[in-house]
Amino acid sequence: MTTLAVQDIKKSFGPTEVLKDIDMEIGTGDFLVLVGPSGCGKSTLLNIIAGLENQTSGQVVIAGRDVSNLQPKERDIAMVFQSYALYPSMTVERNIGFSLEMAGVAKATRTERIKEVAELLKITDLLNRRPSQLSGGQRQRVAMGRALVREPQVFLFDEPLSNLDAKLRVDMRVEIKKLHQRLGATIVYVTHDQIEAMTMATKIAVMKGGIIQQFGAPKDIYDRPSNTFVATFMGSPA
Ligand code: ADP
Ligand code: MG
Repeated sequence: MTTLAVQDIKKSFGPTEVLKDIDMEIGTGDFLVLVGPSGCGKSTLLNIIAGLENQTSGQVVIAGRDVSNLQPKERDIAMVFQSYALYPSMTVERNIGFSLEMAGVAKATRTERIKEVAELLKITDLLNRRPSQLSGGQRQRVAMGRALVREPQVFLFDEPLSNLDAKLRVDMRVEIKKLHQRLGATIVYVTHDQIEAMTMATKIAVMKGGIIQQFGAPKDIYDRPSNTFVATFMGSPA
C-alpha cells in the first residue's frame, strides 16, 4: 500500500527551478532515505510534503487523501529538524505534550501518551528537566518524542543527526532504525551521508539538481547505479 505519493512536484524560487518534476510513491512502513549533495533540493521537497512550503505545481497525497492545499497541522505528518527548536522555558514533558495540549487532548490522555513515548525513547528520567539541562543527544530524543507523540501517518526527518558527534550519530542511527521496525512507521529521512542512507533505508532516492536520479532498494542502487553520478556519489566516503 502507498502511504505517501509525491506527484509531478515542481518548485521554483523566482527564476530558479529547484525541483523538476518529482514523482515518488512511498509504501506503508517504508523507510525512504532521500540522499544527495547540499543544495540539490532535499529540504525543499520535505518542506513541501510537510506543507511548510508551497509547490509551484503538483500534488502531495497521504493515505489516498490529496493534502496539497492543507495546512501542515492538517496533514497527519510530523517533522524532526536538524535544529531541534525545543521550547526553552518548558519542561521536557510539556515540550513533548504541547502539540496534544494545543489540539485539546485531555490531560490524563496526554500524560499517558507522553509516558509511553518517553519509555520508548529512554528519557523517562528527563521529563522534569528543561532543554538547557540536556545533552545534544538527549535534545534530539526529545525532538523525536514531540513527533512520536502525535502518532502521525508519516514522519519526516531533515538531517536529524548532523549536529551530533560521530559516536552518537552511529548510536542514534541504530535507535531510529529500531524505532522504525517497532512502530512500522512510514518515514522519509533526508541526509547527505551515504553511509546513513545505506544502513537505514528500505528504499533510497538519490537526488541531484532537483531531479531524482534513481529510486530503489539500497542493494540495487549500490549494485546497479543508473548513471555515473549515482555510482560516484554512493560509492565515495561521506
Ligand atoms: P538541500 O536541502 O538539498 O541542501 P535545499 O532544498 O535547502 O537543498 O535548497 C535547494 C536550492 O533552493 C538551493 O539552491 C537553495 O539555495 C534554494 N532555496 C531554498 N530555499 C530557498 C528560498 N526560500 N528562497 C530562495 N532559494 C531557496
Ligand atoms: Mg537541507
